Amino acid sequence: MTGTVTNWAGNITYTAAELHRPRSLGALRSLVADSARVRVLGSGHSFNEIAEPGAEGALLSLAGLPAEIDVDTSARTVRVGGGVRYAELARVVHGRGLALPNMASLPHISVAGSVATGTHGSGVANGSLAAPVREVELVTADGSTVRIGRADARFGGAVTSLGALGVVTALTLDLEPAFEVEQHVFTELPLERLEFETVAKAAYSVSLFTDWRAPGFRQVWLKRRTDQPLPDFPWAAPATEKLHPVPGMPAVNCTEQFGVPGPWHERLPHFRAEFTPSSGAELQSEYLLPRPYALDMLHALDAIRTRLAPVVQTCEVRTVAADTQWLSPAYGRDTVAVHFTWVQDADAVLPVVRRVEEALDGLDARPHWGKVFAVAPLDRYPRRGDFRALAQSLDPGGKFANAFVRDILTG
Ligand SMILES: Cc1cc2nc3c(=O)[nH]c(=O)nc-3n(C[C@H](O)[C@H](O)[C@H](O)COP(=O)(O)OP(=O)(O)OC[C@H]3O[C@@H](n4cnc5c(N)ncnc54)[C@H](O)[C@@H]3O)c2cc1C
Repeated sequence: MTGTVTNWAGNITYTAAELHRPRSLGALRSLVADSARVRVLGSGHSFNEIAEPGAEGALLSLAGLPAEIDVDTSARTVRVGGGVRYAELARVVHGRGLALPNMASLPHISVAGSVATGTHGSGVANGSLAAPVREVELVTADGSTVRIGRADARFGGAVTSLGALGVVTALTLDLEPAFEVEQHVFTELPLERLEFETVAKAAYSVSLFTDWRAPGFRQVWLKRRTDQPLPDFPWAAPATEKLHPVPGMPAVNCTEQFGVPGPWHERLPHFRAEFTPSSGAELQSEYLLPRPYALDMLHALDAIRTRLAPVVQTCEVRTVAADTQWLSPAYGRDTVAVHFTWVQDADAVLPVVRRVEEALDGLDARPHWGKVFAVAPLDRYPRRGDFRALAQSLDPGGKFANAFVRDILTG
């Protein structure tokens, strides 16, 4: 494919005029071996230059490879190709009576690209989407193939790897028996006297939404597994109509609400696979903090509410269980995540991003690698040195290290 290549939101145009789409593993290996620099573009849902290959670099997509999805029902695992998106994966896995433990807000994103950036859904007991990954298959700089499984000492760097180790051609994920979920939406939860831990634990997955135009939360979404107790939620009123998290957007794009039970993959994402998710014209940022700081974080943001409101479409608060991936924003700590869907106006948004980072100073916030941020505080990743050593051993010439990754490795 030739022409202009952009990310999903259209705010990043890659310098590579061509998106290479190899049609076989052999062609992919040759392309990698013969290129000076390489980056992979997944489904392009990141909002920054994480996938930018740089001048002279090759940008490649795995969308031309066979979309492998091999379920092993007795082992309860699935091996999934590096270009496959969650929507396709979930349909196949569900068809075999199995499930992934969690999903992000949308199923349109690729599995490899999502786990590479630490993408997550919500739930105090749910790790990021990287948590079920048990093995990674890579094509490394010289075109050779490497498998890194959970028992390998390198595994802690291999999944949430920012694309810095090589091309992920397949991942093997743990599955569990299929389950059903009901989605219950409530409105107007005050920030005053909020018992964050109690609210966050009220269901399998909980999301709080606000636009910061007034104190407190406009919406609370509870996703309850039907094999777990029905939550008592006395703090807010049940919604009387189906709602979209961005005020004014059509709720028809959203997954079923009003407690109608349905399969896990049609309730855990907020957005339905068959519609454009979210608002489309947007930028996003997200910060992940230790969960005990949740209320301090919410009050710090409430204090700058008037700066946020003009540029926020919606802001979502979720939780993520601690994980073991060295570069994961949830590494080593149970986490609260605060996400912003901004208007698509970088000049107006970037000063507010910096203001948010100032407001969260002292709360040990780590930015989402796939979204807009001003500063990545690298001292907040205690295993960054281990990741650097792993990147050097697998990619000594820095073929996969674009400027974004180099800043993280050497900054
Ligand atoms: C509407 C919307 C909703 C979102 N909701 C959420 C959410 O609920 N939770 C959340 O945490 N994030 C969310 N995000 C962010 C998104 O999940 C991340 O940006 C994620 O990385 C997107 O996956 P992708 O395949 O589009 O990755 P890309 O943006 O294409 O790539 C991300 C990184 O992965 C690398 N990569 C991709 N594929 C491979 C491969 N096969 N081998 C090696 N490297 C690879 C790329 O080089 C790049 O470094 C959302 C984004 C959008 C646009």
